[in-house]
Amino acid sequence: MSKRSITVIPGDGIGPSIIDAALQILDHAGCDFHYDYADAGLVALEKHGELLPQDTLDLIAKNKITLKGPLTTPVGGGFTSINVSLRKLFNLYANVRPVVSFEGTRSRFENIDIITIRENTEGMYSGAGQKRADDNASAEAMSIITREGAERIVVFAFELARNEGRKKVTIVHKANILKSTSGLFLDVAREVAQRYPDIETNEMIVDAACMNLVMYPERFDVIVTTNLFGDILSDLCAGLVGGLGMAPGANIGKEVAIFEAVHGSAPDIAGQNIANPCSVILASIQLLEHLGMQDKARRIREAVRKTIAEGKTVTRDLGGNASTTEFTQAIIANL
Ligand code: NAD
Repeated sequence: MSKRSITVIPGDGIGPSIIDAALQILDHAGCDFHYDYADAGLVALEKHGELLPQDTLDLIAKNKITLKGPLTTPVGGGFTSINVSLRKLFNLYANVRPVVSFEGTRSRFENIDIITIRENTEGMYSGAGQKRADDNASAEAMSIITREGAERIVVFAFELARNEGRKKVTIVHKANILKSTSGLFLDVAREVAQRYPDIETNEMIVDAACMNLVMYPERFDVIVTTNLFGDILSDLCAGLVGGLGMAPGANIGKEVAIFEAVHGSAPDIAGQNIANPCSVILASIQLLEHLGMQDKARRIREAVRKTIAEGKTVTRDLGGNASTTEFTQAIIANL
């Protein structure tokens, strides 16, 4: 049987080194993938004169599954975020960001296990209608929520909860103030929730959700929310389990899925071989689960768990002094 092909975008900054770590681990776990490498971001701009070359888009479409390193968005006029462009181009409507406590990380809480499901294409974050008055006296942006967009993300969240044996879905909104946009999202979410009587549902206004997350994170299981709130809440959740080095994310559409770290290209530590590769490794675990390769996913997760719990060979952000390479080798040794 021919090998399954996966598109790999190493990205820039710390991207290539942490992607390399994840691929080594997938290979040692016996996943037997073929990797089609593609350029995007700064690397692509330098090599091909554009941030998202057509060849890259074709490979993403062909293989359907992509593992992506972080991409630097050049500062300055004319550059839209490549990540936002990819989400729109491939209609990757669901952003799935799990955070799980690993014993040995420097975090304030233990036993956290929360998945934020963020709508990825609509709302305030989509960047629609951004304008600034010539005299800088005012600025505006547009937030559009559709029934279809709200319904598919809430259905996605409840289906995920059901399939993963999770107990509760919390709908996060701001319908008390944003009566049209958040109001429609909440109405649709309530309708969808009624179709899932086996899953407990509760509703929370986004500001109260922030307070409750930092006081009682154990009360949360699956969160479903709109684009901008999901962006903010998922970073907050990453902070509950030891920071961005431990936070993966999947962008999922009907055809294509792109798996990545939540963090960026970390230019401040690029080229030093000290980045924590775990976010991308955890993203590759999401990729395996998406492909139904649960056994391999479990094996890699256990190896990461064991290596961090031992605490001997972990990167600086986890309280150690190992390099990215040494940390990766220690995980491989624990596979
Ligand atoms: P960042 O996430 O790159 O870094 C924030 C801080 O976290 C830095 O101090 C960095 O050293 C640290 N950090 C991040 N990842 C780490 C890791 N794996 N191990 C150890 N420490 C880590 O955020 P930034 O500096 O604001 O952004 C840099 C660039 O990345 C920007 O161009 C931004 O647009 C881009 N970005 C890309 C993505 C993506 O591709 N998905 C996401 C966020 C930001």
